Amino acid sequence: MPSILSLENISYSYHNLKGETAALSGITFQVKEGEFLAIVGPSGCGKSTLLSIIAGLLEPESGTLSFSRESTIGYMLQHDHLFEWRTIYQNVILGLELNKKLTQENIDYVLQLLKDYGLDSFKNKKPSELSGGMRQRAALIRTMAVKPDVLLLDEPFSALDFQTRMNVSADIGSIIRSAGKTAILITHDLSEAVTLADRVLVLSGRPSSVKYELPVSYAIDRSDAISIRNTAEYQTYFNILWKELSDDFSDKPTDTQT
Ligand code: ADP
Repeated sequence: MPSILSLENISYSYHNLKGETAALSGITFQVKEGEFLAIVGPSGCGKSTLLSIIAGLLEPESGTLSFSRESTIGYMLQHDHLFEWRTIYQNVILGLELNKKLTQENIDYVLQLLKDYGLDSFKNKKPSELSGGMRQRAALIRTMAVKPDVLLLDEPFSALDFQTRMNVSADIGSIIRSAGKTAILITHDLSEAVTLADRVLVLSGRPSSVKYELPVSYAIDRSDAISIRNTAEYQTYFNILWKELSDDFSDKPTDTQT
């Protein structure tokens, strides 16, 4: 598969009154069409900054970012950001409304997504009447409604409790996979990265660069989150990532080192 997105030597620093915080340094990687890429790294290493740069919300200080074709970006955040005073239907059409794309064809598409993702009978309910998992699915429909070529997922499941989180991430993972969407997921949860992604990038501590790349594949179907977690491949992948991230902490100089 050809690349849809290419990052070459991207660097970024924050400047404020207290000085400069170098967040990213020489980030280089490509994302293939239809690939599910996960990015993990120590807390505060610059993962959200990287996603904001890919989304075009921040301008890189140096380096180049290029899409192989004109691409619509869908962004899903940590909290579902559904508006409580709007119904689920009114929430999921919001992106179309804001982009002035509320055509009959797009409305039909959204109604189909609501059916496909099991929310049809909830479309006239308010977000507060839905479970955490359903809310997250509604947030995904709102993102999918604008037919994005690339989905950016910034810790989208972290507000959910552990049990729900496992099911919802598997659920949303299969939806994205079967839609053939290119996705970039940022997470601090190694299990999530290893169960969902085709490839995991490990970022180093700040200022971060890509320190390790792990291709992930399984002999069994991904939709069963529990079975995936019981495979030998899962254990191996998890351990590799765990070690890569632990190394990053033990790399830090201590008082006894010269
Ligand atoms: P992550 O998503 O990996 O936790 P972030 O991309 O949010 O990391 O942040 C990277 C670093 O940049 C952190 O040290 C953070 O404190 C700093 N940072 C983030 N946003 C700002 C900002 N607006 N101004 C100054 N520093 C910032």
